[in-house]
This record gives sequence, structure tokens and C-alpha cells, in this order.
Amino acid sequence: MDGQDNDNAIPCVSTYFFSIFAILPESVISMIDYIIVGAGFAGSVLAERLASQNNKKILIIEKRKHIAGNCYDHYDEQGVLVHKYGPHIFHTDNAEVFNYLGGFTSWLNYQHEVLALVDGQKIPIPFNLNSLEQLFSPSLASSLEKKLVERYGFDVKVPILELRKEEDKELKYLADYIYRKIFANYTAKQWGCTPEEIDPEVTARVPVFISRDNRYFQDKYQAVPKHGYTQLFANLLDNDNIKLLLNTDYKDVLSFDSKTGDITFFGQPFSGKLVYTGMIDELFDWRFGELPYRSLQFDFEHFKQMSFQQATTENYPDNYDFTRITEFKHMTRQEISGTTIVREFPQDYDRSDVGKNIPYYPMLKDENRQCYKQYYELSQKFDHLILVGRLAEYRYYDMDDIVARALEVYQEHFVT
Ligand code: FAD
Ligand code: UDP
Repeated sequence: MDGQDNDNAIPCVSTYFFSIFAILPESVISMIDYIIVGAGFAGSVLAERLASQNNKKILIIEKRKHIAGNCYDHYDEQGVLVHKYGPHIFHTDNAEVFNYLGGFTSWLNYQHEVLALVDGQKIPIPFNLNSLEQLFSPSLASSLEKKLVERYGFDVKVPILELRKEEDKELKYLADYIYRKIFANYTAKQWGCTPEEIDPEVTARVPVFISRDNRYFQDKYQAVPKHGYTQLFANLLDNDNIKLLLNTDYKDVLSFDSKTGDITFFGQPFSGKLVYTGMIDELFDWRFGELPYRSLQFDFEHFKQMSFQQATTENYPDNYDFTRITEFKHMTRQEISGTTIVREFPQDYDRSDVGKNIPYYPMLKDENRQCYKQYYELSQKFDHLILVGRLAEYRYYDMDDIVARALEVYQEHFVT
């Protein structure tokens, strides 16, 4: 079941709704300085900067019927604030990013904690010294803890693939146990491959943590927008210089000639810059082949009870086809009698299948990076084309990364 939209809850943003069959007069097109494809963080932050700092006229083309990209949240039919494309927790050490976004939202302090069902027990994830004590006998746990601290120090994060290189017999036993119980099946579900077959940066996101800190992240700033992500985006885009064309695939209104770099918009030449935050392979008509992505299916369920589970997110590394269950009200602290959860079912991305055609994650592997590099090199031929975002750069950006990247791109390309 999809998250039910309640359109009353979507904040209002000034929009132009053009019929996609209309031919725009040249005079209107010449009023647009920049066209941005995609209203996620990459597109919206650049639009905000260009509109507010450079007084430029921006048109954002977004194929979904809403702003906010994958960060979009809304109130479901039962009135629970849910994240339509999976749980989003803001965390960063970057004060500039946190303060910049703070200009568009108040924050609700929120320290994310995750549990995982392992051997019938719910243990803290990342696996830490508390997890160790829950799963092993006191004598074994204390011997393993001593060895870990002696070998790596306290408050240190060790990627599982590093820990598995251990030669010490006991530590090797522990590494193999964590690998088997927490990483192997979860990664098989999430990525369709083993932890070794995906870039080590992926599993290193959830390291073994030699600590008693049960939080998922240790960043200085951890929060969710007090009035939700969509409201944050509505505030970013609330500028008379920004117009939105929602519910429109850019390909229906704009064409980019990858030989000449010419842009045609509603049948007319467009001479401004194009900021593109969609899939880079799509922009170049998949000429070097399709970049693989991983998709997800979200299964929302509402319960007429105060709470469903102990933690905001509970991982199922072993049992079941889904990877995790998130209960939103633990994070948003919404005071409401019912509760809504979401289960995440990973699947291959397939652009021709409506149930699988949202590219959530780039598949970070060497051969895919090589393919991306060909697209990137081609894109560099065009000064008026700016590629930024998780899909356009084929990167595993968190929200703070992409906001930082968009601010950097703004400085590089638009500040003289
Ligand atoms: P997007 O948000 O994907 O925006 C791109 C936009 O371009 C989309 O709205 C798309 O519809 C539009 N578009 C694409 N193609 C076209 C086209 N042809 N025509 C018109 N429009 C088009 N980050 C965190 O920091 N914390 C988290 O807890 C977290 N949780 C996540 C959970 C999941 C399940 C996923 C998938 C990601 C999560 N992220 C999290 C990452 C976060 O979603 C991204 O960092 C962020 O959304 C990237 O912004 P973006 O603008 O690059 O991409
Ligand atoms: N992972 C795992 N078991 C877990 C949690 C994470 O194997 O219980 C691995 C898995 O490969 C996952 C990666 O670590 O894709 C990164 O996890 P994270 O929670 O950062 O993923 P995201 O929230 O981005 O989906």
C-alpha cells in the first residue's frame, strides 16, 4: 500500500501550470534565466540561492506532483505525518549547512536510535558494546570487549569488512558473527549482493562501534524539521523569482541536444543555464548503457494504537523480505492516538516497470563508476549544463552532503 496523500497538508507554493501541449511565447521563455530539473534538495537549494542572492528568474521542472524530492513528507489519511519515500533523519557536523537550513525551518532535536532483531533479541545498531553484552555470556562479552578496546581504542568505529581481517581468534569469531547475523542477509536484501560486492563505503556507514553510545549517528547536529520537510522546501521555494512546473517530466517540454548542447524549451531555443538533478544516463539517452540503481517498495500500515514498536527504526537483518520498519511518530513526536509504520522492500530498479521505476540508490561498484565517468566526461563539454544531486552525480549523498554540494556548486558557478 502506498502512503495516502492528503493534499490539504501540502504547503502552497507559487506555481505555473502550463499545459504541456502549449507553445510558450518567446517573450515568456526569455524571462527565465535558469531552468532547474528536479525539486529535491539539489534543485531547491540552487533555486533559492539564485533567486534570493542573484535575483535570477528560475523555473523548476519536477515530474512528481509535489516538491521536496525523496524528502517529501505529508499527513496520511489518519493524520499521521509520514515520509513517503522512506525515513529521513537530518544529521550533520556541518554548521554552515545546519544554519543555512535553519533559515527555512525550526528544528526538533532528535537523536536516532535503531534496534535490530538478532537471535530473538533486539540489539542496538550500529553493533556496539551494549549489543555485545546482550548477545554473549558475561565472561565472553568482557573478554571480547577488552580485546576490542586494546586493539582499536574506545569510541572508535571499525567497518565490518576491516574487522573481518582480524587474525586474533576471538575477534575473528566476533567479526564473523556480526557479519553473518547483521550484514550478510540485510545486504543481500538491500543490494542483491554480498557486502564485498558493493563499495566498502556502503557497509562502513554502519560500522562496529566500540562504545556504549546507542545512537545511530554521532553528528553534532541531529534533528528533523519541526513542521516537516515539505514545509521546509515550501519555505525554500517561497520567492517570486521561482516558478514551478510540477507533474511534468522534463523530456515532455525540454530537449537537450547532446551533440551541440542546444536546449529547446516548449519548441523555442533556450539560451540560459540548465541545472539538472535527474539521472545522468537518462539525460544522455543511455548512450553508454544504463547505470544500475536499487529501488524500494514502501508498505505503509496504520494501527489504531498508541505505539507499534520500541524504536523509531527496527532492522530485520535475517527474517522477512523487508529490511526495516520505521514508526514515524517516535521521530516527529506527533501527539496523535493512532500510529503509522512503513516497511521497506528492496528491489531492482526497472525504468519500464511503474512499480520499480524510482531510482533510490546508485549501485556503487567499480564498473558502474566507470560507466558514470563516461557520462560525466561528456557532460563536461557543456558550460551551460550543471549536474548536481544523488542521481546526476551517481553518489550516495545524505541530505547534508547534497545541501553542502549545492551551496558549493552555487559558489563555483554563480558567484563572481
Ligand atoms: P532527489 O531528492 O531524488 O531529487 C531529484 C528530483 O528530480 C526528484 O524530485 C525527481 O522526481 C526529479 N526528477 C528526476 N528525473 C526527472 C525528470 N525526468 N523530469 C523532472 N523531474 C525529474 N539522507 C539523510 O541525510 N538522512 C536520512 O535519514 C536519509 N534517508 C534516506 C532514506 C531513503 C529510503 C533514501 C532513498 C534516501 C535517504 N536519504 C537520507 C538521502 C536523501 O534522500 C538524499 O540525500 C536527497 O534526497 C538527495 O537530494 P537530490 O536533490 O539529489 O535528489
Ligand atoms: N547494513 C546492514 N545491516 C543493518 C544496517 C545496515 O547490513 O542492520 C548495511 C547495508 O548494506 C546497508 C548499509 O549497511 O545498505 C548502509 O546502511 P544505512 O542504514 O546507512 O542505509 P540507508 O539508510 O542509506 O538505506
